[in-house]
Formats: sequence, structure tokens, C-alpha cells
Amino acid sequence: MGDSRRHYWRRWRSLWRRWFLWVLLVLLVASMLVTLVWLAGRHEADLVQSNLERDTAVAVASLRTALERNLDDMQALQTLTLDGASWQSRAEALLQEHRALLRLEWRDARMQLRAASDSPYGTPTWDLAQRDAPHSEVIQACVRAQRLRGASYADSYFQASPDGQGAEVLEVCLPLAHGGFVVGSYGLRHLLTEIVAPRLQPAQEISFTEPDGTRLVLLRASRRGSRMFTARQLLDLPGATLVVRMDGWHQPPSVFPNVLSALVTVMSIALASVVAVLVRDNRRRLAAERQLGESLAFRQAMEDSLLTGLRARDMAGRITYVNSAFCRMVGYSAEELLGQATPPPYWPPEHASLYAARQQAHMEAGGQQPLQDYELTYMRKDGTRFPVVIYEAPLVNARGARTGWMASFLDVSEQRRAQELSRASQERLQATARLATVGEMASLLSHELNQPLAVIASYAAGSLNLLEPGAEPAGSPQANQAELKMALQRIAAQAERAGRVIKSVHDFLRRRAHVRESVAAADLLDAVLPLARLRAHKLGVDVALELDEDLPPALCDRTMVEQVLLNLARNAMQAMDDPALAERVLTLRVRRAQARGWLEFTVADVGTGIDAEVAARLFTPFFTTRSEGMGLGLSLCRTVIEQHGGVLDHAPNLPRGTVFTFTLPSAA
Ligand code: ADP
Repeated sequence: MGDSRRHYWRRWRSLWRRWFLWVLLVLLVASMLVTLVWLAGRHEADLVQSNLERDTAVAVASLRTALERNLDDMQALQTLTLDGASWQSRAEALLQEHRALLRLEWRDARMQLRAASDSPYGTPTWDLAQRDAPHSEVIQACVRAQRLRGASYADSYFQASPDGQGAEVLEVCLPLAHGGFVVGSYGLRHLLTEIVAPRLQPAQEISFTEPDGTRLVLLRASRRGSRMFTARQLLDLPGATLVVRMDGWHQPPSVFPNVLSALVTVMSIALASVVAVLVRDNRRRLAAERQLGESLAFRQAMEDSLLTGLRARDMAGRITYVNSAFCRMVGYSAEELLGQATPPPYWPPEHASLYAARQQAHMEAGGQQPLQDYELTYMRKDGTRFPVVIYEAPLVNARGARTGWMASFLDVSEQRRAQELSRASQERLQATARLATVGEMASLLSHELNQPLAVIASYAAGSLNLLEPGAEPAGSPQANQAELKMALQRIAAQAERAGRVIKSVHDFLRRRAHVRESVAAADLLDAVLPLARLRAHKLGVDVALELDEDLPPALCDRTMVEQVLLNLARNAMQAMDDPALAERVLTLRVRRAQARGWLEFTVADVGTGIDAEVAARLFTPFFTTRSEGMGLGLSLCRTVIEQHGGVLDHAPNLPRGTVFTFTLPSAA
């Protein structure tokens, strides 16, 4: 329960965080819109109001000038004559000219009527009897006029007419220079219709009010629109004050153009925010691009600095990618290699069919098994061949589908050259060692061959004596013949022995190829025994042989193993070259090793033995304790045995001497 609530809360919060800015934006835009419309409306209303004020001011000004002008005209009435009849005719002309004037009266200084004229337009119908005595307001105005020596207006009053109607009348009293007054009566309504109305707009209505707001006269307009604007202006005349009020009917500020401008605003805001979003997006994209570029450059640098060649192929076997190391290796540019199908230009023509078949088989097998450590010969652009080791694995794309193969290549020509070099130098070493052995033996041989040769020579001399015709025969001819035969047999035997010795040396001198053959252990021993025995004889050493029954033949390079045996035997005999030594036995033993399929050869002596210091360096090339030694024997022996897969080791021979043991695979 709590969990779900927390979950709900978290969801809500993340939603809110995501939408907060948008909601804010929408609210801001909406409030701005409303404000905009409202301000626009207000501005429009202000405009209408100020127009109305201006129109009112114009109306008041034109009223004022019209009244001033009328006063001048009234003044002019009196200038020439004071005769009642001519006054009347001139007043009539004046009245005809000024429609707003309803009546003109000439009164003397005691306010008695001397002459009067009514407007020819006939409104209103004056009650003449009543007009003989002036209105009290007019009397006051005339008193004021006389005092001020200028025109003075009376407060307006309603003059009822007999037909039940009437008019609001404003009267002005103008004092005359030679006494008396001219009283002019204006109809307020007429003033408005004559002077102001022509300039009014259809929706405007104008009225005179008293300062307290009571409406005196109203020129009504047709009512348009629902909203009314009002402007008031004072028209203060000497002695009286009127208020001109103008009302204007107007449509409420129209919403549509405002909405339009708001819409434009909203759209520009939206545009601005879209631009902002785009800019941000662009910046992000640029950052991502830069990052991508950097990682690409890093990858490129990594690929370029690789020493391993890389190559990718698609499912059809076409090359889709090679790195610069691969291009350097084969001497072709990437452009030359990309898109190349089988066979690629770097396959040597002599191997192409074999490689193509192998590749076909590999593809048909689905390439599931990565090609491991596979050595091929490739061809550079200049035609030189070189060995490469290739590791190939399926190329899998991001969706897990296999799209081809990716292979890495190592140019192993340097390695091969080094191997070749070491092999050659090893062979040279072996040859040197053999020469050393042989040289050593040559002196022995010369000594050893002396003996059979001496024997042969003496038998030959004896035989010749027997055959000498003058010689005294020692016995019967049969006995002589038997003696001769024996001598010849001895000569043959000695010659054969000498021949064997020479052959064994010859065998060693001849450098045979490394061929593994199956050789009986006894044959190996037999091959080295004549030479071993030569030295043994010289040093007074007994040679003992111990061979197990039914030994399987050994699988080995015969000459090399014979040399190992000979070396070990020679070392053993040299170790026993001590005059104080009573018994000197060299034991050569062959038996089955503990591991199945292996033979164990042992060369044991009872000589000086090997102390720890010597043992530590025993197999080091050129290590020797002898002045005439080369120090190569044991290290070569170990190499030979290890090349056969066997082990060469030594141990003390109790109670005295050393045992050297090595193993060889049996042919069985
Ligand atoms: P070289 O015979 O030319 O001295 P080797 O490599 O055959 O070179 O032998 C190295 C040294 O190992 C010899 O000088 C000798 O001191 C010691 N050594 C080898 N075999 C024996 C052995 N059976 N008994 C005692 N010392 C031996």
C-alpha cells in the first residue's frame, strides 16, 4: 500500500519535473495574452475618450466665438439710429442671420421696452404681454452689465409657450453707450443645433447641463454601440456658467484584432522557444559529434599504431575493412583491397586454389569455429612471399547477427628467420663439436691403427719369409702352408678391425640429415663401442654392457644419439682417468623407462663425481673443467635429447662416480 503510494508520488514528481517548465510557459503566455488584450482595449478606450474631450473643447470654443460674434452684431444695431422702426428692420435682418437668437429687445435705461423683434423662424411663440416686463434674471443681468460696462448673461430659465411646450432660454444684456440696453434671447437648443450640431459625429450627443448635473437641453444621437463615454467642459460667460456635456456611444474595444496581435505574439514566443530548443539540441549534437570525432580519432590512432594486421570480410568473402598495418604488410593500399573478392591479390598464385578451397570449406562450416593460429604464405605487391599467422573469428553486429569474418594477421617472417638462424647456428655448433671429437679421436686413431697395422706388417713379413725360395723351411710343406694361412687370416682380421674403426669415424664425420628411424638399442651401443673401447683400452677401463631382454627399438636420429652416447662415455672415462683408482668400470645400460613407450639409457662411471658448483653449470655451453675440453658436449647432448622429446639428467653413482641418464621414445 505504502509502496504503491510512494511509487505514485515518485511518478507524479517526475512527470511534474518534466512538464513544469512547459506548464509555466503556457501560463505565462496565457497571462500575457490576457494582459495584452486588456491593455489594447484600454488603449482604445483612452483614445476614444481623448477624442471626445477634444471634440467637446472644440464645441465649447465654437459656442464661445459664436456668442462673441453675435454680441458684436448686437452692438452694431445701435450705432447709427435710435429710431424704433429702423431698429426693428435691422434687428429682423440680424435675427434672420442668426437662427439661435430668438428675440431682440431694445429697452431704455428704466428697462421699458422700446422696440422688439422676434425670430422669423417662429419658435417659440412668445407671450408678448408677459415679455413687456423683463424677467427678473434679465434685470439683474442688465444691472450687472451697466456696472461692468459690458455684456452680461443671465442664468438660463425655462420659457413655457402657450401650446404647452417651451424652451430653455439664455438671455444676454448689452448696455448701450447712450443709455438703455439691448437684450438678446438665445434658445439653448437652437444654440446647439446651429453651432455645434453640424460638427457632431453620428454617435455623439451633446447637452447643456447646470453645474450640478441637471440636464437643460439635449441633442440626442442615435445610439450605437453599448458603451458610453462622457466629457464635460465649462462654458463660463460673464454672469452665467453653463456646462457642455458630450456623450459618445462606442463599440466595446473589438477583440478580434487584439486576439490577432496576441496570436502573433504567442507564435513569436513559440518560435523563440523552438529556436532555443533547436539551439540547445544543436549544441548537444555538436558535443556528441565532437565526442564521436575524438573517439574515432582515438580508434584510428589505435588502429594505425597496431602491428597486427586487421581485415574484415562480409558473408560473400569480400573485403570490407583493412587497417594500415595490414596494408603495410601486403604492400597494397586500402583502396586497392576494399571490395576485393576471392582470390585477393595477396594470395600467391601457387597457393590460391588451396586457400580458396580451405576458405570455402570454412565458410560452409558456418565459420562457427574460429580459425586459430593458422599459418599461410602471403604475397606482397612486389611478389615477395612471407609467412603470416592468422586468427579469424566471426564478426557479429550489434543485433547479434553474423555479418562476416574478422581476422588478425601477424607477419612471422622475422620469427621464422630467427628460428632458421638459431637452427643453423645449432647445426654449426654440432658440426664444430663433432669436429672437436673427431680431432681428438684422430690422434687416438693414429695410435690405435698403429697396432693392427704393425700386426699386419709383421704377419706379412713372416709370410713373405715363408715364401722365399731360399729360405730354410722350418717344417713340412703342409705345416708351412697352415702357418701361412693363419698369418693371412690374422692379417685379414686386423685389416677388418682397422676398417671398422675408420668406418665409425667416417660415419661421424658424415653429416646426415635428421631422420628419425627405428633403431635397436643394441645397434646403437654396437656403433659406439669400437670407438669407446679404443679409449677404454688406452685408459685401462672395463666396459660393461647391460641390456634388458625384448627391448623395443628406439625412434631416433641415429647419428646424433650415437654421438650423445659417445660423449657421455668419453666424459665418464675421463672422470675415471685417475692413477689412484683401482677399479675403473664404465657401465652402459639400456632398459624400459618407467613411462610407457620410452627407453632409458644410462652411462655410469665410478670416477670423480660432480660437485654442486660444477653441477649448476654443467649444461652451459663452453663450460668445461678440462684444459683441452671444448665444453660443448653436454649442452649439445641435452639439445639432441630434448629434440627427441626426452630428458637428459645426471645423479651421483653411489658410492662413487656419476650416472648420466637419458630417455628416448620407443618405436613401438
Ligand atoms: P668437455 O667434455 O669438453 O669439458 P662437457 O660439456 O662434455 O665438455 O663437460 C663439461 C664438464 O662437465 C666437464 O669439463 C667435466 O668437468 C664435467 N663432467 C662431465 N661428465 C662428467 C662425469 N661423468 N663425471 C664428472 N664430471 C663430469
